[in-house]
Amino acid sequence: MKRSPLIIDCHGHFTTAPKALENWRNQQIAGIKDPALMPKVADLKISDDELREAIETNQLRLMKERGSDLTIFSPRASFMAHHIGDFKVSSTWAAICNELVYRVCQLFPDHFVGAAMLPQSPGVDPKTCIPELDKCVKQYGQVGLNLNPDPSGGHWNSPPLTDRHWYPIYEKMVEYDIPAMIHVSTSCNACFHTTGAHYLNADTTAVMQLIQGDLFRDFPTLKFIIPHGGGAAPYHWGRFRGLAQEMKKPLLSEHLLKNIYFDTCVYHQPGIDLLTKVIPVDNILFASEMIGAVRGIDPETGAYYDDTKRYIQATANLNDEQRFKVYEGNARRVFTRLDAALKQKEVQ
Ligand SMILES: [Zn+2]
Repeated sequence: MKRSPLIIDCHGHFTTAPKALENWRNQQIAGIKDPALMPKVADLKISDDELREAIETNQLRLMKERGSDLTIFSPRASFMAHHIGDFKVSSTWAAICNELVYRVCQLFPDHFVGAAMLPQSPGVDPKTCIPELDKCVKQYGQVGLNLNPDPSGGHWNSPPLTDRHWYPIYEKMVEYDIPAMIHVSTSCNACFHTTGAHYLNADTTAVMQLIQGDLFRDFPTLKFIIPHGGGAAPYHWGRFRGLAQEMKKPLLSEHLLKNIYFDTCVYHQPGIDLLTKVIPVDNILFASEMIGAVRGIDPETGAYYDDTKRYIQATANLNDEQRFKVYEGNARRVFTRLDAALKQKEVQ
């Protein structure tokens, strides 16, 4: 009998940071217009006790209630807001957010491992993000990163993910063997609700961009996680297969599925049933994005919408061996630095 899986949630953000963080950010935004108001990094004071409380009463409490062990934890996605200010503003903000996540991971090493936010800024060369990424991987031991395909916040004026524009980031990812979750931030376009439209649009858009291009020919070991269950991609897999065929691309099993993975942030049973039926099990990673966009209880089930483990447990499409892959095996294969860290702990 195989041991029970470690439940690894590959998609969590620090959405519950003490209020001081938001206050500091608001002050920074005020300082863009009036430099006299610009706060210093040292003005932000958050104690370990405050961090402990923010985690213990929120994410960790729910992880324990729901039976998940370890969360890959990154700064709050909607707060990245790369469209605000210039590179310097983004750079200071990313450094602060990444350090806070690092501190959480230090305080709860058995339950949280970090993923980096990048200091992206619209129109700025992505290679400017490399020093922050270096620090997050080498100094903070972070095992992944979030890459925003649209730092404009809903106006989509960066080149597609397959463009050489992004290659400096990909070269680093390959060097470190770390995956990127393709994750947008707040929408500043009123047409797109942030988590209801912009996020899912971005997930779907990323999949289509990757179909149109040949990125993985240049980077055969590059790994992307498409969050929120892959947006519309699994639901419309037939359309995507058909479009790829018309574009004379290889089968999606060759063209995409050696490099992209879908998380399970899909908040109802029929959605998880579809995901696990359409997408091969080796390409599915457990995640809940808790505490995130949808925090309520589903009156149809009496359970939290984002308690996605319930749906994985209940789906008839997976057997125990396949569930092991979704919960643990695939995450350790994709996040190789996490796997190495876990092996290190096992021998200690
Ligand atoms: Zn997210």
